[in-house]
Amino acid sequence: MTTMPEFLVTPISSNSKTGPCPQVTIGHNVETCRQSCLRAGCPLLPVKLGGPAENGGPTCYSWNGTGRLGLLSKMKGYLHAEVKGQAEDRYGLSALQHRLASAKMIRISDIGDPCALSDTAVRALREAAAAANLFIVGFTHGWRQAPLWRGILMASVGSLDEADEAIDAGWRAAVVLPSTWSPGDKTFRTPKGRRGVVCPSMIDKAKGRVTYELRRGKKVTVSATQCNSCLICREDWKPAVVGFPDHSAAARGSAWR
Ligand code: SF4
Ligand code: SF4
Repeated sequence: MTTMPEFLVTPISSNSKTGPCPQVTIGHNVETCRQSCLRAGCPLLPVKLGGPAENGGPTCYSWNGTGRLGLLSKMKGYLHAEVKGQAEDRYGLSALQHRLASAKMIRISDIGDPCALSDTAVRALREAAAAANLFIVGFTHGWRQAPLWRGILMASVGSLDEADEAIDAGWRAAVVLPSTWSPGDKTFRTPKGRRGVVCPSMIDKAKGRVTYELRRGKKVTVSATQCNSCLICREDWKPAVVGFPDHSAAARGSAWR
């Protein structure tokens, strides 16, 4: 009997936000992908898919937007490749060999939550990323149940208090900023005083670069255009928390996961 893969790899993403880097989809079909979101207890999973997110409120961009079409197309492509005996080369870790030379990171994931992956799959992804010299950039709502991803992925959290909780537990956190955040602020603090930075692509994409003042007057400039050049969310970046402004219900729904 064929063992179905726990994830599918796309070597060149068409996502303009991340840039053309490799990305991982959780699951091998729509149902296993959806189950990973359920397992994470993600508050953004739409009601129609068994989650708690009502229409009109914050909801998952990936399941509601083009991400879902991309998922269907990828699953179809995977089945086709499986029949032709090309599944590993096109959708397995071997597909990383087809990445662009400019790729600096692998996104885990474009849809589905990586907390659902087995220890074996997590280790395989981490080893493959290291072998390919790629940073891992990714997020999980299921951080409480994914210890192997601690220190690698960002914990997706719903409040600054939860960001502190995740950081206390050894994670870096990605948080939707409260509506009190002032447009133009590049940094913020959690209730426990941790300094966070706002995702540069949400501050000033037009300028292309954003400079942050960090501790002791230290400054750092990053590209504001794509994750593949920004890389703030990679595992070894110093600020423990990255913020994503909460402009509106629609914007909340498309916030980074
Ligand atoms: S944000 Fe991630 S975990 Fe949540 S529903 Fe979307 S894909 Fe699933
Ligand atoms: S902070 Fe950088 S790496 Fe993180 S989501 Fe924003 S652009 Fe991507």
